[in-house]
Amino acid sequence: MALIREADLIDSVADALQYISYYHSPDFIAAMGRAYDHEQSPAARDAIAQILTNSRLCAEGRRPICQDTGIVVAFVKVGMNVRWDAQRSLEEMVNEGVRRAYLHPDNLLRASIVADPAGKRGNTRDNTPAVIHVELVPGEGVDVTVAAKGGGSENKSMFAMLNPSDSVADWVVEAVQEMGAGWCPPGMLGIGIGGSAEKALLLAKESLMETIDMPQLKARGPSSRLEELRIEIFDRVNALGIGAQGLGGLTTVLDVRIRDYPTHAASLPVAVIPNCAATRHVHFHLDGSGPARLEPPDLARWPTVAWTPDPSVRRVSLDGLKRADVSSWKPGERLLLSGKLLTGRDAAHKRICALLDAGQPLPDGLSFQDRVIYYVGPVDPVGKEVVGPAGPTTANRMDRFTETMLAKAGLMAMVGKAERGPEAVAAIRRHKSAYLIAVGGAAYLVSKAIRASRIVAFPELGMEAVYEFEVSDMPVTVAVDSNGESLHDSGPRQWQGKFRGIQVAVQS
Ligand code: SF4
Repeated sequence: MALIREADLIDSVADALQYISYYHSPDFIAAMGRAYDHEQSPAARDAIAQILTNSRLCAEGRRPICQDTGIVVAFVKVGMNVRWDAQRSLEEMVNEGVRRAYLHPDNLLRASIVADPAGKRGNTRDNTPAVIHVELVPGEGVDVTVAAKGGGSENKSMFAMLNPSDSVADWVVEAVQEMGAGWCPPGMLGIGIGGSAEKALLLAKESLMETIDMPQLKARGPSSRLEELRIEIFDRVNALGIGAQGLGGLTTVLDVRIRDYPTHAASLPVAVIPNCAATRHVHFHLDGSGPARLEPPDLARWPTVAWTPDPSVRRVSLDGLKRADVSSWKPGERLLLSGKLLTGRDAAHKRICALLDAGQPLPDGLSFQDRVIYYVGPVDPVGKEVVGPAGPTTANRMDRFTETMLAKAGLMAMVGKAERGPEAVAAIRRHKSAYLIAVGGAAYLVSKAIRASRIVAFPELGMEAVYEFEVSDMPVTVAVDSNGESLHDSGPRQWQGKFRGIQVAVQS
């Protein structure tokens, strides 16, 4: 009978969360490397190069892969013969591990969890509580899988109660088209089929904890209906041409995993949850002999891809930027930004627009006149960093504020990730503005382009405060030009249907 000590579970959870904050798993890296090798769309290939370079920098520097260090989801399987040497409940032990991981002084992780979600939404400051699923199973030990799930990808989860005669593959392909690029593809799709409504969603999340093995599956051929479905969905989704970051390209998903469960004869519940470029999960086992030890991955497994600024790309000075410059940018054009950028995301936009709509002045020193804003909530810096990982957040959450920001605040352009909605695109066209995207999932690489950072307004909002960043050669792509032409429409159109026939080679 195994005796599991409280400290062993807490330390193991804390270590595992630190580990996945900076190490992608080998299967994910190999799959992303394959996607890079096969990608023919220059914009998507550049984005994958940034993701891979970011991944290696994070593994070397032990800093987060993404500024969104996720909501913690833990799957805990407790052996029925386990005894505990613990004062806290299982939930309290897991949450203590989360707290220690996210407040680790050498690698501070961003606290993203808010309590009272339909009300005040106050940050809990230590990223607790985790979402914990506990199962009692035969055996002697405790099996734990922890994941840190990004908000951008979790937000795109979908569920449907289909009719038993409906096609699951058709529904998933349609769902992925609706998701847009806010889930930071390329990544994985987890699909749950059957059970009840909540069971289907849980199956989808559990399936995301599995290893990427689509090349092996294709090589050996499917041996079950579910494996046939995995291949069908994988091929059909990639044939959509969405591509990395929605820029148009050959790889949208690296794998599709499916779990199923018996269901009611009248029902066909289906859930799909995407996992992003910052796919983070790890498994460990406690047998009573002490905390789990997670070996660092071999960096030689990372593909030899090192993204550096392309000298042929147009360099843009943000200081003294003219509206005529903005109007000359074309969808799909890559730019390197240098100079001063303001930042802001949901909470700051809400406050700024409330002040502007009430005819009140903005806080002292804050002016968006002829400035560019970057939608970001960075990780706090450690050591000599001026800012922690600072990748873009999903831009369409700012769509409802865009008209006010352009018309009343005098903003010139915006940087974020994924597509804008019709309301924002219309405002961009009306005001001859532009929307640029940075690569979601390349946050540490982006932070290397930030040379100085200071808080300009709303310090009490923490990571949601308005900062002024001084950047040097920050890589972005024009996603919506001043005429309202959107790369997220034209890119996938151009690459639609081109996936079929691309060889998926098996790499060891
Ligand atoms: S890669 Fe994108 S979706 Fe994933 S955690 Fe980062 S910002 Fe969120």
